[in-house]
Amino acid sequence: MENLIEKTRYIMKKYGITANKSLGQNFLINQEVVNKIVDSSNINKEDLVIEIGPGLGTLTEELLQNAGRVVAIELDKRMITILTDRFVAYNNFEVINQDVLKVNLNELIENYKKQYNLKSAKIVANLPYYITTPIIMKLLEDKLDLESITVMIQKEVADRLIATPGDKLSGAITYAVYYYAEAENVMIVDNNSFIPEPEVTSEVIKLKIRKVPPIKIKNEEKFFKLIKISFMQRRKTLLNALVNGGVINNKEEAKNIFEKIGFDLNVRGESLTIEDFAKLEENL
Ligand code: SAM
Repeated sequence: MENLIEKTRYIMKKYGITANKSLGQNFLINQEVVNKIVDSSNINKEDLVIEIGPGLGTLTEELLQNAGRVVAIELDKRMITILTDRFVAYNNFEVINQDVLKVNLNELIENYKKQYNLKSAKIVANLPYYITTPIIMKLLEDKLDLESITVMIQKEVADRLIATPGDKLSGAITYAVYYYAEAENVMIVDNNSFIPEPEVTSEVIKLKIRKVPPIKIKNEEKFFKLIKISFMQRRKTLLNALVNGGVINNKEEAKNIFEKIGFDLNVRGESLTIEDFAKLEENL
């Protein structure tokens, strides 16, 4: 670990970098964690790897040695200079200076795969925590041609993402993750694996994108909207949440629907399985 700390400090000093908190900059300094992220992402020379937020390039260096091509997307201009200098000897590296949420990833994946004759695309990243959820939702909802997503995120969010729908820890995002991917925990990471230290514990998770969804849903947009509304008013019963959220016109109508599909009138959204939500969606 000593080595990576020194290397990180050296790069930061050389380029006069202080971490920008508002960009979620916590740089990895633990070689074991870097190795574990790269190993668990299972990348090879036929892969296009998209790294979100490469920062000083700690993870990038390992990715470049294992992947066919690495495209890194970084918002902070200062990092672009560092990365360009640092990886000048690699001919399989590109960096895009943009907000990842604004990048057309569908187009990017299609173009790079075709141009460099790569078999599959994988996302690997130590994500900026202030936008973990929008990034994960974009990666899933854009239906990208991806094989897997291996990311470090805050443990609290990781717990929700990899929960089984209907479990105590589930939130609206749990259902989306389950629908699009098979999720697993890779490792918990202590705060002292970064400089500066984040205020929260971190976790590496891997999402293997499903080729076929686990259940059939008629209208995905309507289905996920229904789940979001059910979770927006967590303390209310599902029946009240749906009426208040305008999904069902009034309580009478809601009672009829609930009775028809065999739902307890006092059930809460968070205890519903994904199949329960599908059943509800079909009957609305
Ligand atoms: N990968 C590096 C590491 O592990 O040491 C840095 C990880 S740091 C947690 C997150 C990185 O994401 C920072 O370099 C930050 O500048 C970058 N970032 C923040 N917001 C971004 C955005 N909207 N789009 C792309 N990169 C972003």
